[in-house]
Amino acid sequence: MELSILPLTQPKARPRDENALAFGKTFSDRMFVMEYATAKGWHGARIAPYGPFSLDPAAAVLHYAQEIFEGLKAFRCQDGRIALFRPTDNVKRFNRSADRMCMPRVDEAFFLQAIKELVRLEADWVPRSEGTSLYIRPTMIATDPYLGVRPSDTYLCYVILSPVAAYYKGGFSPVKIWISDEFVRSAPGGTGEAKTGGNYAASLRASMEAAKLGFDQVLWLDAVHRKYVEEVGSMNICFYLDGKVVTSPLKGTILDGITRRSVLTLIRDLGIEVEERALSVEEIMEGAASGRLVEAFGTGTAAVVSPVGQLTYRDRTIEIGGNQVGALTLKLYETLTGIQYGRLPDPHGWVE
Ligand code: PMP
Repeated sequence: MELSILPLTQPKARPRDENALAFGKTFSDRMFVMEYATAKGWHGARIAPYGPFSLDPAAAVLHYAQEIFEGLKAFRCQDGRIALFRPTDNVKRFNRSADRMCMPRVDEAFFLQAIKELVRLEADWVPRSEGTSLYIRPTMIATDPYLGVRPSDTYLCYVILSPVAAYYKGGFSPVKIWISDEFVRSAPGGTGEAKTGGNYAASLRASMEAAKLGFDQVLWLDAVHRKYVEEVGSMNICFYLDGKVVTSPLKGTILDGITRRSVLTLIRDLGIEVEERALSVEEIMEGAASGRLVEAFGTGTAAVVSPVGQLTYRDRTIEIGGNQVGALTLKLYETLTGIQYGRLPDPHGWVE
């Protein structure tokens, strides 16, 4: 497939203060777009000026949420190079989400090339200040103007870019987590491991309640036993317990996080054992009380690594590592961001 580049006639003004950029509110000048029809396959691939779409009010995505997306970042390195972090993994996950939601796959090599070309054209939108990045949001939506519940025959796939400020403006400090007893994020056989909008819509209510109670994030428990930890907010979560790092296994209910995967590799590189296994709330509460649990942290593209200082379950609150950032958490954060910004060598070839 050919990628056409449409002229840009009205470039926007660049953000004046890169450090004041709110997440996901500012978008670059251009976007990538292509369409799909069952009879034609993917077609019309182009990089066009950023702008609104015209959608039929009956478009399937607006009613039944047949939609997937991705999230990754481009970083401006010290030597001026612009690096994407593990973009191939994101493109592969996009296709796995597409399979789950009965949507057409994209050609991985073509889509990756299109994303890189878009970032290259928009290089000026990759911010320069310490800790900033360009967030990349690939998306696919179902566009059939039809109210019947079935997979759409037509789709729109696009990629938009959003410059973001450093995540830790107020310092790298631990967060307070609320373990939800009432709400669940996903269930076996459901869509938990797909990156699809409905999962996020379904999570809003618990997040709102957590925020009202003064917590930063929700920790989700499994839907069957309501006792094993799965994810925290939109991050995977790891616990440093008895000298090993324990995290929930990939069994269909959690997202296969690319930061999770990277962090687990770095932990093994440090000679620390990783256990991907079911971990119950009781084990965590007991571990914190007895001092066996020394650190906990979330992992995700936005925050990279997010230290967890406090956990509340029902009427019990525990502190982890004295509510301080642990040495392993800090080491992982520094190593991963060091690789992303080209300050450290990239032994696993994650940066493209
Ligand atoms: N879990 C959920 C539910 C998420 O939305 C995200 C963010 N994509 C993650 C985990 C972390 O995934 P990644 O490291 O690929 O950003």
